[in-house]
Amino acid sequence: MIRQFISRLLPQRFKKAPRIYDATQHNIRADAIDEAALIVVRRLHSAGFQAFIVGGAVRDLMLGRRPKDFDIATDATPEEIKPLFRRAFIIGRRFRLVHVHTGHDVIEVSTFRSSQTDEDATDEHGRLLSDNVYGTQAQDALRRDFTINALYFDPETEEIWDYVGGVNDVRAHRLKLIGPPVTRYREDPVRMLRAVRLAAKLGLTLAPTSEAPLIKLASLMRNIPPARLFEETQKLLLSGNAQETVAQVRRYQLLPSFDALLDTPTAERFAGIALAHTDARLKIGKTVSPAYLFAALLWPALIRERDARLEAGMKPAPAFLAAMDTTLEEHAKMLAVPRRFQGIIREIWGLQPRFEQRQGQRPFRLLEQPRFRAAYDFLCMRAENREVLRELSTWWEKFQKADDDTRKAMLATAPKPEAGSGSRPRRRRKKSQSANVATSA
Ligand code: ATP
Ligand code: MG
Repeated sequence: MIRQFISRLLPQRFKKAPRIYDATQHNIRADAIDEAALIVVRRLHSAGFQAFIVGGAVRDLMLGRRPKDFDIATDATPEEIKPLFRRAFIIGRRFRLVHVHTGHDVIEVSTFRSSQTDEDATDEHGRLLSDNVYGTQAQDALRRDFTINALYFDPETEEIWDYVGGVNDVRAHRLKLIGPPVTRYREDPVRMLRAVRLAAKLGLTLAPTSEAPLIKLASLMRNIPPARLFEETQKLLLSGNAQETVAQVRRYQLLPSFDALLDTPTAERFAGIALAHTDARLKIGKTVSPAYLFAALLWPALIRERDARLEAGMKPAPAFLAAMDTTLEEHAKMLAVPRRFQGIIREIWGLQPRFEQRQGQRPFRLLEQPRFRAAYDFLCMRAENREVLRELSTWWEKFQKADDDTRKAMLATAPKPEAGSGSRPRRRRKKSQSANVATSA
């Protein structure tokens, strides 16, 4: 019924003229646009095509933020775009778009497209299976997710073209889906994660009609292909506001795997520390490795797996190794962590027990490990979580910077290891042989 209702509505809306805001009616100036994007727009214009900056960049500029990148939308097809530039490549199999290389920049240029709304284009949950039909600019606006993501800025006239009321929504700091929310979430459940992520990242309020269906539709998240799910999960963890975003994701129960991972106070506290570190690093312009972050989110699961094996009488070293395997096989799979990250995660984990080995040549060998820095940062988070003694992380902080003589003195007085990585202090004393984890883990 809803579908019939929109299909009756749509043809009129495609014909609808946009509301055009001229330069006196908004805050975006052409000089805020990267030179490379300007060149591409001008070239398309002079070849007789329409070309606009679109999507996140227009939204971010209106909100006074620096855009990550400048995407361009045009009525030219990829075959028409390509010959206009010296270095342009048609990419994508499903929907083809053009990457224009200018200097160090790559500008993404896509042709206006429409979303098919007929029955065969969706699966039994209403998910759109294809998204690859060219269309008019009005159709291109309507197939986008949120009104504030569907604004078109022409840097030559400094006009904003708005088909969906996005300008008013940006001004009201409102994040609102285009079209009927339930249908739009069903078409692409990733939009639910995007809603939560963009609201938290940009400090916007989700419109009540866009918020209402979230919990009810959360189960649709199961139908998202793993690679796409991981990409979005990674985006929300690296949004710069991960703590808030994860809290919202859990409030709407969008990622059940998070609940499974963070189901004890200890796990929750450790994740909180990791997310706060991530947000703080991003705030000062440092990079964050996604593998590191996933290593942290999965660590409490690893500890649980290890403890279960210790309880069953397994020796600490094999218990730790087996726990790493199980955690990667079971929990990392739920989060769709790609293989290429799993190796790095394993290295960061594997070095943890070795920090407790402070005799002889071992600390020197540890310093030479390629993942030493990441593993050391990880150790500091564990110390902050009181899982290992602060003394251990401060010792390593000092040891890294010390000269040879100081290092020798430090080695002579370093406490002997009592236990394997992250063992609970009470159990440590009994299983003192767990120190051996270090060399084998
Ligand atoms: P970010 O700042 O995180 O990049 P963004 O809105 O630019 O946010 P992109 O993934 O770069 O996100 O998408 C670019 C544009 O494509 C969006 O602004 C939106 O118009 C459109 N878009 C992206 N994802 C979807 C989706 N799932 N459904 C409909 N339109 C989408
Ligand atoms: Mg973007």
